[in-house]
Amino acid sequence: MERILFRSTNRQSSEVDFSEALLRGQAPDYGLYMPVKMPVISKKEISAFDRMDYPHIACTIMKKFLGEDIPRELLGKMAVSAYNFDVPVQYVRDNLYILWLTKGPTASFKDFAARMMAQLMQYFASRESRKLTVLVATSGDTGGAVANAFHRLDNTNVVVLFPFREVTERQRKQMTTLGDNVFPVAVKGKFDDCQAIVKRAFNDSELECLGLTSANSINFGRLMPQIVYYFYAYSRLKKDEVVFSVPSGNFGNIMGGVFAKKMGLPVKKFIAAVNENDEFPEFMETGVYKPVVPSRECSSNAMNVGHPSNLSRLMDIYGGWLTDERDEIGTVLKKGVLKIQPDMKKMRTDFSSYSVTEKEVDETITAYFKNCGILIEPHGAVGIRAAEKDDCSSPVVCIETADPAKFPEKIRALLNLEPPLPFSLSGLDGVREDFATMESDYAEFKNLLRKKFPR
Ligand SMILES: *Cc1c(COP(=O)(O)O)cnc(C)c1O
Repeated sequence: MERILFRSTNRQSSEVDFSEALLRGQAPDYGLYMPVKMPVISKKEISAFDRMDYPHIACTIMKKFLGEDIPRELLGKMAVSAYNFDVPVQYVRDNLYILWLTKGPTASFKDFAARMMAQLMQYFASRESRKLTVLVATSGDTGGAVANAFHRLDNTNVVVLFPFREVTERQRKQMTTLGDNVFPVAVKGKFDDCQAIVKRAFNDSELECLGLTSANSINFGRLMPQIVYYFYAYSRLKKDEVVFSVPSGNFGNIMGGVFAKKMGLPVKKFIAAVNENDEFPEFMETGVYKPVVPSRECSSNAMNVGHPSNLSRLMDIYGGWLTDERDEIGTVLKKGVLKIQPDMKKMRTDFSSYSVTEKEVDETITAYFKNCGILIEPHGAVGIRAAEKDDCSSPVVCIETADPAKFPEKIRALLNLEPPLPFSLSGLDGVREDFATMESDYAEFKNLLRKKFPR
């Protein structure tokens, strides 16, 4: 089997293998890792997916990237333990389907990536006798999914920084009730403060002994597992060609789909659905890329992103080059500079993109409950509404990325009902919480780490 190597979107760093791309996260030239060559899933393999369950499909696809780096049997075991929950594809009406990526242990689609990536990271780190301390800043769903995925894995620790006042009680409890190797830290500040502390820690040579690794969506290891559910949904639909409508923030989810198409999945097009952070639909229309700064606050809060990190990958696929301008020591001078224009004609054939307003989200949640008896939440509503704006002549799969019970305030206000708690969220009340609290101060964070992990 051919070995897939990875290059940086900035093209200044050397090519690395999967394990290196996974453990590094970002390339040394600050670019994102891309497969040099796309592995192919043949028509025959795709039609065999009809008769396979989710973990088997996952194993077949990931094997193409991992080659002989990991024994097939072990990869299979990892997939079985990662995907021990349902992945329903529901027919709604006309040409419209919903793919529910909400049944994992933290009730968001981030479980799909985090649960696989955690096991792969642990495997490759221990093979190289590297220590592994995963450090993440979270504004909501990522922290819970990552903490949950690494919980009780040997030789790994997880440190999660979250803004004390900006996460919901349920989101906080998903991180603070685990214990063992999970160390949540509440920062008296904003998400950006958490992010700044994390970035500084990665560049701090005094912390090298901890083996700090990032688990955010710039990591190719998080994208690879997200290729799988596009193949899976296709296999369950049994149609010749499908459209996917993907609620997008950092564009990691939709990149999984783009890679799936590159590998051979018959996708007619993607609908990149965004909330009021409309930099991408604007770009598609005008060809000019302008980040939205500061990002706009919408109820689909995991998508409040004004400069999506994975756009540099997307532009790269279409021959473009999007990067940040930096000085010699790496400080960002200007975010999101499009140095080479991608092939707009091709992009416009492969993508539609729509911005969905708060009012439209509310209307959509209400209408789907009243007319179809289906309860959706704000992120999914953005995807569904965007699909309605498009011409629906082909089957459209809309991705629902979170369980409505994660947004009880919204559901109560619109529908005057209490969203039923899924099993995964129901055990959180009354469990003891454990977390550190600190000011938004780097020195204090370093002290905390030293105390927690004495050498
Ligand atoms: C993270 C997240 C998204 C956005 O996904 P991207 O990969 O960043 O585009 C959408 N919905 C929910 C519920 C999320 O947690």
